[in-house]
Amino acid sequence: MGTMAPKRILTALADLLWVPRCTACDNFVSLAGGDSICAAFCSVCIESLVPTGSPRCPICGLTFDGVGKDHVCGHCLADRPAFSSSYAPFLYGGAVKQAILRFKYRPAPWLSTQLGRLLFSQDGVLATPDVVMPVPSHPSRLRQRGFNQSALLARYAAAACRVPLDTNTLRSTRETMQQAGLNRAQRLRHLRGAFAADSTPRLADARVLLVDDVVTTTATVRAAAQALVEAGARRVDVLSLARAP
Ligand SMILES: [Zn+2]
Ligand SMILES: [Zn+2]
Repeated sequence: MGTMAPKRILTALADLLWVPRCTACDNFVSLAGGDSICAAFCSVCIESLVPTGSPRCPICGLTFDGVGKDHVCGHCLADRPAFSSSYAPFLYGGAVKQAILRFKYRPAPWLSTQLGRLLFSQDGVLATPDVVMPVPSHPSRLRQRGFNQSALLARYAAAACRVPLDTNTLRSTRETMQQAGLNRAQRLRHLRGAFAADSTPRLADARVLLVDDVVTTTATVRAAAQALVEAGARRVDVLSLARAP
């Protein structure tokens, strides 16, 4: 066993003791008011948060610049997704991006609680689900990392909604490559058929809340929702922490 640097020992201890700290930078946070945003971020990091708002696409949650009414975006008009709605409390960037990136490599229970609470930090328009499912990781990635961060968030969401968590019905069928270098059309093509769902009695006619950490082009959640609807889900709604602007 190698020696741990003192900072790492302190971090590990603090994780065990659940000392409330900023999910983005580890600063201590004030828990005044018990607000989930104040519990998850220090006062400096809170300044960098951008809540999502109107005008936005009521289907995929894409936020538009300027003022005006919500309206269906060009992507959804041209190619309507299998999910009914997609909601995220924040735009992807600043402290929320930092927190999500850290969470990918450090699944401390306090982090998943703090970030899970953030899913419900704004008054999102969520249909009450029958079951909550995470966007699955491919088994090889799961082996490598040891956990699926979306499943940790989904577990929190299921408890909050008081409905079952289902991590088995929706599966990743093949390894998908890094999406970073791909444009929107390439991502959509690449992810088509990347998921499969079993037609279980639980899924039949069910309203599914599909949870992911961040939604960017919607290619991933489109493919996952498609698999769920084809397997019998009545409705799929997507909930994530952050939406790429
Ligand atoms: Zn901070
Ligand atoms: Zn849209």
